[in-house]
Amino acid sequence: MARFRIQSAVPPCGKFFFEFDGEYVESGNRAELCELARGLYRKRGRVPPVDIFGVVMEHMCRTLPDGFCTEPSGPPLLDVAKVKSNTAAMFGSRIANPVVVRERLHVCMACPMNDRASCPSCSGLLEWALAGMGGRTRIPADDFVYVCRPALAFASALATVDNPGPAPDGCPDSCWRRNL
Ligand code: SF4
Repeated sequence: MARFRIQSAVPPCGKFFFEFDGEYVESGNRAELCELARGLYRKRGRVPPVDIFGVVMEHMCRTLPDGFCTEPSGPPLLDVAKVKSNTAAMFGSRIANPVVVRERLHVCMACPMNDRASCPSCSGLLEWALAGMGGRTRIPADDFVYVCRPALAFASALATVDNPGPAPDGCPDSCWRRNL
């Protein structure tokens, strides 16, 4: 189980964060974050783990810089500014049929390039992305897609654009963009 090397350390991003069952919480205060994390369990009728901070550390260590934790990190963190600017560049585009959007999102949900773990700072930006896409209604599938790693953009926004152009390098053969 990955833990901070120095248990009392504050992560480089200055905040503690946790995600459970698709809901994300963050705080600059460790005790407050632990309470928020417990709340996520209670909200779903689950008993919070006794060592809640251990669970939080394990979650955070997947994306914190190598060396901060007792085990190596996961894939490199995404450049949030780039994700935002690439997403904003799609604002105002012609929008696809809602049925098509939903089908695309379902493909993204199963895609290994749908990267939730590497973008903790992106949390809370889904509403912003959808508002920019003509105020598209949020559907359940939006809660299961995040950043398309090859496109470095919110997959929900990408799936909403009628024709986002050819698939960039790194998109798997299963990507819906390969069939446009
Ligand atoms: S690569 Fe394609 S299917 Fe995968 S997340 Fe990106 S847009 Fe979705």
